[in-house]
Amino acid sequence: MNRKEFPSMNMHELLQKDPKVWDIFTLKEEYNSPLRDQYGRFPYYASSNRNIFEPGVSKYLIDHGLHAEYPEDRQFAVCLTHDIDDVYTFFLPKVISSMKYLKQGSISEFMRSISQMRSKKLPLWNFDSIIKLEEQYGARSSFYFMAENSEEQDYAYPIEDCESALGDIVDRGSEIGLHGGFISYSRPEDLKLKKKRMEKILNKKIIGYRNHYLRFNVPETWRYLHEAGFLYDTTIGYADCIGFRNGMCHPFKPYNLQNGEIIDIVEIPLIIMDDSLFDHYMRLDSDKAWDITQRLIHVVSECHGVITFLWHNYSCIGKQRKFYEKILKYCAEKNAWMTSGEQIFTWWKHTIGD
Ligand SMILES: [Zn+2]
Repeated sequence: MNRKEFPSMNMHELLQKDPKVWDIFTLKEEYNSPLRDQYGRFPYYASSNRNIFEPGVSKYLIDHGLHAEYPEDRQFAVCLTHDIDDVYTFFLPKVISSMKYLKQGSISEFMRSISQMRSKKLPLWNFDSIIKLEEQYGARSSFYFMAENSEEQDYAYPIEDCESALGDIVDRGSEIGLHGGFISYSRPEDLKLKKKRMEKILNKKIIGYRNHYLRFNVPETWRYLHEAGFLYDTTIGYADCIGFRNGMCHPFKPYNLQNGEIIDIVEIPLIIMDDSLFDHYMRLDSDKAWDITQRLIHVVSECHGVITFLWHNYSCIGKQRKFYEKILKYCAEKNAWMTSGEQIFTWWKHTIGD
């Protein structure tokens, strides 16, 4: 963002001048709201902001002088991210199917079949093919891995198994961040522990975060993430609908309404999650999903903003991989800077900064 064109007043002071805009920006309605879905999330259907496909708060800032500029004169930015919920394909059905060997009395065949499941040849071990696809369009991305213990409810893989993959991803210019577990968003100690665990395996500091199931408490989770040493989060988007949860299509520092302080962490708002578009929530067919995706890309491009996609590694296979490629192709044609959360964070820090 250009300081020269956004002078005398900082973002928060400017937003506070319009109470309606300020309430949307700060997500005031989520403070102590009793209405939560089965995963404890504040859902889109409970929000009084019905204008989810318009980044109203960013537009207000633009009307007051905000103008973001990107490297190489790009029109807008696309933040590409992948949550890695699992690395071993459909483990349970495969275990069940392997049980037939036990019934047949063949323990060795059963063991062979189990060991194949943990081999790295299965479709979810697809980091290399995701990176290759992105490289074709000059893009980089962020991979948020989990660091759960085997006794935790969302445990799917030991992070130690991924050591070489993590190193490879970083060597090729993409980012490793933490995908916090089911309860991490509300447990400061757990966030610190998992961050350290991931950094030990990676042998490098990590700065980026997204919580599993997009679970998040406004404003506490931001505070916990800052205290754990994360520099940015990208969880703030609704699971049940794509769009601009707090009206922003630019990164921002969140504001804590409880104590009137800015929280020292950057939020890169999540705009489109794969699962929101398709079977789990909005239930759009491929054409309708593309129409609305294109519309949001267009809106963000007009605002010179940042559009964040969450495309799970399980969606980088088959039909949904084609959809992801369509996004990459379309955004490349529209002169987007397609990169990781880490790069977006660094750009933000060096342009608008604190
Ligand atoms: Zn997840």
